[in-house]
Amino acid sequence: MRTPVDDYLADVLTRCRDNTDGALADYIPELACVDPSLLAAAVCMADGTIYAAGDVDHRFTIQSMSKPFVYALALRDLGEREVAARVGVEPSGDAFNQLSLGRDGRPRNPMINAGAIAVHSLIGGPDASDAERSRRILDGISAFAGRRLDVDDAVFESEFETSFRNRGIANMLRSVGVITQEPRDVVREYTRQCAIRVSVRDLAVMAVTLAMGGVNPRTRERVVPAWVCRQVLSVMMTCGMYDAAGDWMTSVGIPAKSGVSGGVLGALPGHVGLAAFSPKVDDHGHSVRGVRIFERLSRDLSLHLMEVQEARVRILQSSGEVELRDGTARHVQLRGALYFGSVERLLRELDDIPPGDALVVDLTEVAHINPIGRRMLLDAMARLGEGRRLVLVDPSGRLRNPRETGLDLDVVRKIADEQ
Ligand code: GLU
Repeated sequence: MRTPVDDYLADVLTRCRDNTDGALADYIPELACVDPSLLAAAVCMADGTIYAAGDVDHRFTIQSMSKPFVYALALRDLGEREVAARVGVEPSGDAFNQLSLGRDGRPRNPMINAGAIAVHSLIGGPDASDAERSRRILDGISAFAGRRLDVDDAVFESEFETSFRNRGIANMLRSVGVITQEPRDVVREYTRQCAIRVSVRDLAVMAVTLAMGGVNPRTRERVVPAWVCRQVLSVMMTCGMYDAAGDWMTSVGIPAKSGVSGGVLGALPGHVGLAAFSPKVDDHGHSVRGVRIFERLSRDLSLHLMEVQEARVRILQSSGEVELRDGTARHVQLRGALYFGSVERLLRELDDIPPGDALVVDLTEVAHINPIGRRMLLDAMARLGEGRRLVLVDPSGRLRNPRETGLDLDVVRKIADEQ
């Protein structure tokens, strides 16, 4: 069935198609031969459902969009401290290929080439061979995509042959000890990393895996731990769009990464993964039409991170009286998401209920609860239960992991027994 989302995406592409600004990234000779009219977009939902429009099966090289994922693999395998010893997290405000280091001698962040080359060199540890490092990276990026990816050898060779600038960066890194291997070998394998082939669908799945805390919703594989995703998304937000990061934050407001092949991917935490592709890029190396597509998606679908979200839990209006075996009780039916802001408000509303009234708190319609929401609600249940009959209706077991909440087990049992 064609859904409104399919039609909407097709419409977004139609509106962006006329824009022919920008130029092919011809510093990589093979990219200068690409058809500039190619255009595609994809959205992957939190449950793995994919919507896509345009040249959805066209495959192109991942280029700098590999950087957040290789950073994630390095964090997973080496830990935050060891990775932070080699690369910072501050926006550089420089172009992606600037030969620059921070005052402390580290590359400023893992999204510019200097930082990405440093992070690439860490994969597999100092003793890993070039082949081993490359294999781990291809395996890891494939796990994010949920299918086996491969390398575009023509783009790889073409870029490596002309990679004078990246070799200059790697030599600079070697001279200050940020990388320990032979610079030319590191640049060769980094270039191979950038030549991994993907489609917009792959990028959207990779993005949603970051957005959903590291579990690929299509394969159900946990690729990286949740803390890694938080770190990677933070760095994408501040550094992913290089020297256009401020413009991007204000106009789109989604953690993102671009690549000079013309791809852009974005990951909105807990919500959605997005991808766009069109080969002509602007002076920053971002796809011109890709940026337009993201501006539209952000505005039309209210995806800007800084957009005010309403407190998302409410007591259903229909909540009235409910019959229990031994009398009637007030029925409090909750709907929405339970997190700090929404539960705080809910607790104040529950406070208005007169003491002594029997209560049924019904979580059947609750869509999501995070650890602090659960903890606060359990605590409130214990207090509400003092001096009254309290029944909890919780068919999905959202409040039932007392060990995780750190609350008194008796409190939880008392609540569960009442059901
Ligand atoms: N492989 C490209 C380079 O290192 C990636 C740059 C980009 O996509 O922004 O120059």
